[in-house]
Order: sequence, then C-alpha cells, then structure tokens
Amino acid sequence: RRVEMPGRDSVKVAVRVRPFNKRERDAGSHCTVTMSSATTTIQDPRNQQARRTFTFDYAYWSHSGFARNEGGLYVAEEPGGRYADQGHVFRDLGQGILDNALQGYNATLLAYGQTGSGKSYSMVGYGPNKGLVPTLCERLFQAVRTNQDSRQCQIFFSMLEIYNEQVVDLLARGSGSRPPGGLKVREEQQRGFYVEGLRRVPCESSAQVGQLMEQGTRTRTTASTHMNASSSRSHMLIVLQLKQIFSKENMTKQSNINLVDLAGSERQRSSGSEADRLKEGTAINLSLTTLGNVISSLADVALGKRVVHVPYRNSVLTKLLQSALGGNSRTIMIATLSPADICYEESLSTLRFAERAK
Ligand code: ADP
Repeated sequence: RRVEMPGRDSVKVAVRVRPFNKRERDAGSHCTVTMSSATTTIQDPRNQQARRTFTFDYAYWSHSGFARNEGGLYVAEEPGGRYADQGHVFRDLGQGILDNALQGYNATLLAYGQTGSGKSYSMVGYGPNKGLVPTLCERLFQAVRTNQDSRQCQIFFSMLEIYNEQVVDLLARGSGSRPPGGLKVREEQQRGFYVEGLRRVPCESSAQVGQLMEQGTRTRTTASTHMNASSSRSHMLIVLQLKQIFSKENMTKQSNINLVDLAGSERQRSSGSEADRLKEGTAINLSLTTLGNVISSLADVALGKRVVHVPYRNSVLTKLLQSALGGNSRTIMIATLSPADICYEESLSTLRFAERAK
C-alpha cells in the first residue's frame, strides 16, 4: 500500500493552557507559562535565567482576569495570552476538519498533555462548554441534513481504547471486562489496518452520538476499575466515519475523522506490580513514542525533507491512524498544559513532544 505524502501544512499544533485549579491556587502556585500570538514561553520556577520559547500554529490562553506581577513571576489571574473559549478553538481547529471530511478526506485530532491539563475539556467538554467532538458532530449532522445536492450520507461511530497495545471495544455489549488479548488488529490491501469485530454504529443524530460517547466513557471507567488501572494510562480513539454516496455521479466518498485522547503525558507511575508497571510503561510509551516518531516524520516530509520510512507499523495506535495521518489527511495536535509552576516539568515535556510535530 502506497503511503501518500502530506501537503505542507497538514500537521498543525495548538497549545492550550487551562486556568489554575483549586489545588494550585491553594498551594499559592505561580504561573510559569505566558503566551503572545503564536508563541508560548515557559519559565523554570527554580531558575530565573532558564526559559524556553516555542512557536506553534496556535496558542490558547484561558484566563481573562487582571494582571498582577510578583517579582517577575505571574500570579494566578495574570492574562498571559489571548483568551480562547471553546467556540474559538472549534473555529480554528474543528471547522477545517469538518470541511475536509465533507470533501472526502480523513482527519486526525490528537489531545496530548498531563492528566488534569484539559484534554477532555478540549475534546469533549463539560456541560455547556462543549468541546471539539460534540460541536463537530452537531455541525456534521447539520451539514449532512442541509446539503443541497443529491448526495446521501451515512455516519458511523466507533469508540475504542488502547491499553498495553491491546484494543478494547468501548461500545461492545458486556465489555466491562476485557477479553484476554483484546481485539485483533488486521491488515488488508485496500482497507489498510482495522480492528476485527469492532462495533460500528450507524448514527442519525448528534444526540445519538452523545449517548454512545457516554456509554463508551462509562465502559472505559468500569473496565479500568476492574483492572485496577487508571484510564489516564490508556489511549481512547473515537472514529466518526462519513460515507457519502453521489448516485448521479455513481461515486462514493468515505472519510474517517479520528479523535484521540492520548494517555496522560506524565511519567507513568503505576500502583500495580513491578512486572505490570514495566509492561505497561513500555506499551504506553511504545504507542506514544511511535506516534511522536510518525508525526515528526510527517512534519519533515511537509518541510520537503526526504523521509525514507514512516514507522506506522511499530504500534497499534499508529497502525489504526495510518490512513488518517499523512496523505491528504489533516492532522491536528492540541497540547494541553497547566499554568502552574508545580507542573513545570510535565508542561515542558508536553511542549517538547508537541515541538516534534513541527
Ligand atoms: P484531562 O482530560 O487532561 O485529564 P480535564 O479536561 O478533565 O483534564 O481538565 C481538568 C479540569 O480542568 C476540569 O475540571 C476542566 O473543566 C478544567 N479545564 C481544563 N481545561 C480548561 C479550560 N481551557 N478552561 C476552563 N477549564 C478547563
């Protein structure tokens, strides 16, 4: 199978800083992150001289309070960049994915960051603060309902989890306990990699997608409780598949939108046995490391560098994303950060990971 190479700007990276949480406020922690247009600067709290500046496609700030400055470090309320709400983020990142999908191309949206840094907030959202996935679904159904031509559309939804390089179907009935070994990942000439037996639910509305997402999220939580593991150590993948049938032209277009909530970027500390911990650590890092390598190869290709080999085959996650990374696909990574000095190390490592995608 020939892997098509992406266009120049097919990988886009956004950084988003969440507001301080209560724990950080109570600890009197300071802000280590500032943003100015597309640049993000992070300051080492132990060393005034040590600061690093990164430039990404977008930099999103979450505070809208007043500025106060204490000895060169910023306090909680300091606005360190341009405030971006959920709507703003959707317009920048979600709309393009939607347009792309309607044209028949694939897309992948990845959220990466420390647990508690805002991955779920950005992807799914909380209450009225809808994240990228529900808004994307709403707009997708809207577009499909109101399209003027004779095309017929079908939308399918799947949701799975990758844990220790094993695939668990989050929509399978009775999937609270994981089948040993998980579902098999297979490869076919035309289709590429796919998960054998994965449930693919035809959907009629975004409300139905919302229900399935809730079901999947519940399954994810129960399953991880069974295994005495935290869901922050697994990767979650939602696939929205859009099939468009143009009967007049006798043509079908199919596009996959992959929405990925990656495992927490923090160094993995496990409560399990030493052996479990080692196994888990390697497996999680395998998918993350491979993803980093794949995205960085794609970014090199986009810069016109010669890339001999994109290592999709090295992990389950990258196998499943292969058809939607590179080629004419759009790839967006949103790296989420805490603003607090106590998270400095994790935030710096998140920024470093995101930098590889440039
Ligand atoms: P993660 O999925 O990375 O573990 P969450 O998305 O659950 O983290 O975020 C942790 C908390 O921070 C949640 O209570 C969430 O509402 C809040 N939060 C995260 N990002 C933002 C943001 N950009 N604006 C406002 N609140 C946020």
